[in-house]
Amino acid sequence: MARGFPERIQLKSAEQLAVMRQAGLVVARALREMRDAVAPGVSTADLDQIARRVLHDEGASSSFLGYDVGTGPYPAVICASVNDRVVHGIPSPADKLAEGDLISLDFGAIVDGWHGDAAISVTVGEVRPDVAALSAACEEALWAGIAAARVGGRLSDISSAVETSVRRSGRYGIVAGYGGHGIGSAMHMAPHILNYGPAGRGPRLVRGMALAIEPMLTLGSRGTEQLDDGWTVVTVDGSWAAHWEHTVALLDDGPWVLTAEDGGRDRLGELGVAVSARAP
Ligand code: MG
Repeated sequence: MARGFPERIQLKSAEQLAVMRQAGLVVARALREMRDAVAPGVSTADLDQIARRVLHDEGASSSFLGYDVGTGPYPAVICASVNDRVVHGIPSPADKLAEGDLISLDFGAIVDGWHGDAAISVTVGEVRPDVAALSAACEEALWAGIAAARVGGRLSDISSAVETSVRRSGRYGIVAGYGGHGIGSAMHMAPHILNYGPAGRGPRLVRGMALAIEPMLTLGSRGTEQLDDGWTVVTVDGSWAAHWEHTVALLDDGPWVLTAEDGGRDRLGELGVAVSARAP
């Protein structure tokens, strides 16, 4: 989800980031429980129920439920986007997963007014090799983008790192028009973060920023269209899509991936990037 930000980039104090971490851990738990439940015959509404239970257990609320961009309130706590659906798919009991599908699950939680937002793509049973590779390339691009989110750099360093990673992985479409966003006391805030473009442009990255980085890739072209439900975004060419996202806080001693249970330590370590001492 990404539309209509206020202009200024909100900077968070250490105390505010600690609350955002709590929201991030709720998001991580819900995505893990949904991932573990993905199987043929499970409906996207079943997955939404899992996320609702986690919110209830954790005393958190949903970033998505009731979210309104002018087409009416969003009716669920997750977005569930299967195969050629890219993002913002509405869960439904009739929407049952089948062997070979690829489902993208996007989830946001609020704790004490502070948001966390993340997404994963999950394969259903055995999938075609190109589908598995698409999801892996998207996840890799996400981590490349996070690794480039450094205090002292510029916003488009992230965009460039995402695009460079994608080009290295293969011939994928990088979805146009959608991207990451600032996050904090609202889910969608400035700045908008493109998943492509040259490095060294845009606002300076400073301590206390929190950014949701979210590459969306397709096996075909980059064009999308919105369905009549006012939400679901599908590829124009019918090609399948993947979506991965994390919320990351920028600190002087490195990034802290608020929606990763290990704070990003393992994946960033593989890229030679040390996480902040505030990460576990
Ligand atoms: Mg997001």
